[in-house]
Amino acid sequence: MYDVIIIGAGIAGTTFASKISKYAKTLLIEAQDYKKEIPIRTNVFPEHNRPFIKEEIDWNNKGIFPSPHTKSNYMSDEFNGVIDSTEFGIPLGNMCYTENLLEKLLNQLEEQGGTFKSNERISKINRHHDYLELINSKGESYKTRLLALATGSRGFDLQRSLGFEIPDHYTGALIHLFGDENKINENLEYNYVFHINPKISTNGPFYFNKGKERIATGFLGGTNESKEAIIEKLDRILKNYKRIQPIVDGLKYDLSATVAGEISKHPIKKFSNDRVLVLGEATGLVTAFFYEGLLPGVACADIATKTIKPLFEKDSNFNQLELKEYDKEVKRVLFPYFKNGNALEYLIYNEGSHVKSLWRLYTELLNENKLARKYIYEAYINQDLSKHNTSNDRYVGEKWFGKLPTLSKITLSPKFFKAMLL
Ligand SMILES: Cc1cc2nc3c(=O)[nH]c(=O)nc-3n(C[C@H](O)[C@H](O)[C@H](O)COP(=O)(O)OP(=O)(O)OC[C@H]3O[C@@H](n4cnc5c(N)ncnc54)[C@H](O)[C@@H]3O)c2cc1C
Repeated sequence: MYDVIIIGAGIAGTTFASKISKYAKTLLIEAQDYKKEIPIRTNVFPEHNRPFIKEEIDWNNKGIFPSPHTKSNYMSDEFNGVIDSTEFGIPLGNMCYTENLLEKLLNQLEEQGGTFKSNERISKINRHHDYLELINSKGESYKTRLLALATGSRGFDLQRSLGFEIPDHYTGALIHLFGDENKINENLEYNYVFHINPKISTNGPFYFNKGKERIATGFLGGTNESKEAIIEKLDRILKNYKRIQPIVDGLKYDLSATVAGEISKHPIKKFSNDRVLVLGEATGLVTAFFYEGLLPGVACADIATKTIKPLFEKDSNFNQLELKEYDKEVKRVLFPYFKNGNALEYLIYNEGSHVKSLWRLYTELLNENKLARKYIYEAYINQDLSKHNTSNDRYVGEKWFGKLPTLSKITLSPKFFKAMLL
């Protein structure tokens, strides 16, 4: 019998495994074959993630964090809205080779006596009075006192079978472009480029995340786009879209290595029930506008550990009432910051004819207004997101609204008003 079994070895599952295995007999199970390869990912890892992982991960580990994140470009067809951390102080965070981060956390799990099994899919879960029984696709079973579902957007059937809702989800495509370090730096000045073009998608951004010898790029599309269609579209964009040609120029990519998959957002109502916790993207905790998902992964893992540790000490039966503290704390810590993303999502991700001009004005505002840039900088580096200052977001919203031509002001004022209340 295990104390805890975690399903899913993404950021949420591995962080939780590394933390909780100090106190409990832990098993982590992953469907993908990590022995062959942990899939490579180049991600933005903001400074505000650091408090949740500071005991496990050295911020100066260059294998995990190849470079500091100093420059973000919120890019429109006309403007570069650049947040340059050197204007205000410390870096915005680190760029992250997430496969190396996961590997480090998995090593810690094993060093602390925990067990990791990869290339194994859990297909069924049976509830018993005082334990849960997990059955894998080979018919083998495991027993546990507590289960953590950290299955991202790839375990919805399992999630439903345990009585949880599933979040809204959209299809995205991701590919890596490769080149030597000098060429990468010559092509791309910014660590992170976030671009909105309604011709690419009205549901999400096109982006670039810069590593040392690689750049991750891709976009997030609609709910009903097929994987084939989204991969073809990505290829067309990389080959033909003029605005990004200087970034792509001379770099190599293999279209067959494109990863197309689901990404969720809009949190479900409950993250726990008897003997079960849901962590990370499976809860829909991904910021609605920027699609930040590593933050909720590490935050859920940290909060779950703090909730569960005293329960093990008092030999709890992990009932819903006790686990509800986890839901409450996750919402307290993350929701103030999430409000900003909800408002931006409401204003920008829709079919309306204003999307392009609204995004252009937003990027122009960042270009010309130092205080707006400072407020965004402060959100990146905030060490306590439960105290995220929503009046700063309101300031940016008001200045943005102020830039609209008179006619658009009349048409869009109800939308802006509603966005401020979200
Ligand atoms: C293209 C793209 C770029 C992104 N860039 C960033 C970024 O720069 N910064 C950022 O903060 N966020 C980013 N995100 C979001 C972020 O990467 C994700 O939200 C986050 O990694 C989700 O972590 P997770 O651990 O919750 O889930 P996942 O990483 O999806 O892990 C879930 C794991 O569970 C396993 N699993 C599922 N079902 C089963 C089962 N039945 N049995 C066993 N295993 C199972 C899966 O194989 C998977 O490995 C990006 C997302 C996308 C799509």
